[in-house]
Formats: sequence, C-alpha cells, structure tokens
Amino acid sequence: MTRKMKRAALALAAALLCGALSGCGAEEPAVTETFAMDTVMRFTAYGKNGQAAADAADREVRRLEALLDRTDGDSEVSRVNSGAGAPVTVSGETGRLIQSARTFSEDTGGAFDITIAPVMDAWGFTTDEKHVPDRGTLDSLLPLVDSGTIAVEDRGDTALVTIGEGQSIDLGGIAKGYASERIEAIFREQGVASALAYLGGNVYAHGEKPDGAPWRVAVQDPQDTDSCTGVLSLRDAYAITSGGYQRYFEQDGQTYHHIIDPATGYPADSGLLSVTIVAPAVGPDGGDGLTGGTMADAFSTALFVMGEERAIDFWRRSGYEFDMVLVTADGRLLVTDGLEKKFERNEDAGYIYEIIR
Ligand code: AMP
Ligand code: MG
Repeated sequence: MTRKMKRAALALAAALLCGALSGCGAEEPAVTETFAMDTVMRFTAYGKNGQAAADAADREVRRLEALLDRTDGDSEVSRVNSGAGAPVTVSGETGRLIQSARTFSEDTGGAFDITIAPVMDAWGFTTDEKHVPDRGTLDSLLPLVDSGTIAVEDRGDTALVTIGEGQSIDLGGIAKGYASERIEAIFREQGVASALAYLGGNVYAHGEKPDGAPWRVAVQDPQDTDSCTGVLSLRDAYAITSGGYQRYFEQDGQTYHHIIDPATGYPADSGLLSVTIVAPAVGPDGGDGLTGGTMADAFSTALFVMGEERAIDFWRRSGYEFDMVLVTADGRLLVTDGLEKKFERNEDAGYIYEIIR
C-alpha cells in the first residue's frame, strides 16, 4: 500500500467514526472497495442486485477516471490540454461536464475555476515534489486562470472543446462529485433501494437504511480527523466535503493545501477549515449538470475559497438548492437551517454551534 493509499484508508476509517456510514440489520450488504481518482472508495448496496450495483459503480469510476484524469496522457481532458488553442473533439459527456464547470465558475465569481491547472502544476501538486513557487511564476500564470475563454459546442454524442493557448484544465474539484451522481443513476438502474457510495470525502446516500432509518454520514473534524464535528441523517442526498486538511504538504514549518484561490494563486486562506455541501439526489430523470453531486462538489471547493461571509451570502442568494456545514478556523460550526433537524452535533468536538438562516 502506498502512503497515499494509507492516508486515504485512514480517512475512510475516520468517516466510520461517530457511528456513521454503518450498515445495520440482518441482511448483509454487498461491499466493493477500490482505489480510484486518487482516493479510497467504497460502495455498499443492499438487496438482490446489490453486488451487481456495487461492481457497476466500481467500473463506472474507472471509466470516468480514464476520461477525466489529466495526469493520464490518454484521457480526454489531457487531449483538451495538449490541444490548447484549438478545438478538440471529446465525448458529449466530458463536454457537458466542462460546460457545467464553466457555469459554476461564472456563478461563483471565479472562486471555482478548472483553468487553475497551470497554478496547481507550479505548486507541484500532481507530482511528488510539492513546493512553494515564487511570486513571479504565479503572477505570470494567473492570467491563464480564466474559464471565460472555454468554449464548448455540444454535438450530442461528442463535443468540441476549445481552451485558450497556454491554458489547461483540472477537473479534480468536480470529478468525484460527478462520479457520485453517475453512481446514483447506477443504483436506480439496478433497482437498488438502499445503498451508500463513499468516494473519499464525497458521500451519496441512496434511499435509506434497510431498517427504514436515514443513513448517517459523519462530518469529519478538520482539527482531529479521527473524530467528527457531527453526523448528518440523510436520505437520497449528497454530502460532499472540501477541506485544507485533506491534501497538503509542509515547507519551512508552514502547511500548504490543495485548494487554490484563483485570485492569488495561493492555497485559499479564507478562515474556513472545511465546507460540507448537502444536496438532494437528482432523482430518476437525472440531473441537468448543475445539481446533485456535481454541484455539491463544485460548491464545496468554491465556498471553501470564498470564506464564511461570501459563502453564506452565496447560499442565501445564488438560487441553487443546497445546505451546508462550515467549520471555521476560530472554532465555530455553522449549519444552514435546512439541516437543523438532520445534523446531530458532537459536543465533545468543542465547536460553538450556530444555525444560519
Ligand atoms: P475538492 O477536493 O473537491 O475541494 O477539490 C480540490 C481539487 O480541485 C484540487 O486538488 C485541484 O485539483 C482542484 N482545485 C484546486 N483549487 C481549485 C479551484 N479554486 N477551483 C477549481 N478546482 C480547484
Ligand atoms: Mg469539490
């Protein structure tokens, strides 16, 4: 097991704390565990098609990884990046995901931006040699961070994607959420009524537990990842968390995490330790690319960059349907009112609890 896999396995173990993510009842579920998209994933499904659904979920995350992983030279995203400056033909699916990302960028005032890739590279985030780049390097790269230059022409089964010269895209902030949404579709196709998909910090709770109780999903404590700030009771919902504690490196006694503020080129230093977005399942008709797990993943990253004030303002005014749990660096736990009855806090974690209305 590599160090990365061990770290991810520990995160999974932590997610099991506070009695969350647990199965129950007489019936044994099918469980498939896998390492994909740089994280440990686990699919748990009950009922007669449980095993088929869990296995199909496993195949689906691998299929998506092959399309979307920019460190894989053969992926569609890599083709878009190496063709920068000219149109590149990709699958309709990849094109639509890039189009969603572009919309999220616009709607979050650029806090979420998949053209962050050159800056991620300057930090060495996709390599084993992470380091603080010099200011001059960042200043020369920041003008490339601009989703406004992305053009997507949807042609049904295919799409033509154009990005600007020198630009490259990184779907790391949205791919797992999109994958979780595809898994919702698989659970439905397989007629599974009760299942849980865990994709490293991204959870999709399908239906309810076999005993009729809601799924329990822990919100990890960013300051003590063996513990949780509380537990969400969810049915047919996504709970997707972004936090600086999930991926980082240290240099000269400082820690630098992987969520970059496109305005500065530096790890976002917004006063938040983590953001969990809770969004309803997209349902049998499927999502429109701007809802469900895809939205929740984009917004967990974006609102982490925005910080408390902008995030709350966005929650109140954006028109998108979601709830959230914010953990602040000054020890507060902010929960929007849609979760008032669904969030059971862990008082031992010691946070001051506030409901946002
Ligand atoms: P998440 O774990 O969903 O918050 O996504 C973090 C990942 O998204 C990073 O590892 C990068 O691949 C990418 N990323 C970092 N900063 C941003 C940003 N401001 N907007 C979009 N993607 C980002
Ligand atoms: Mg995200």
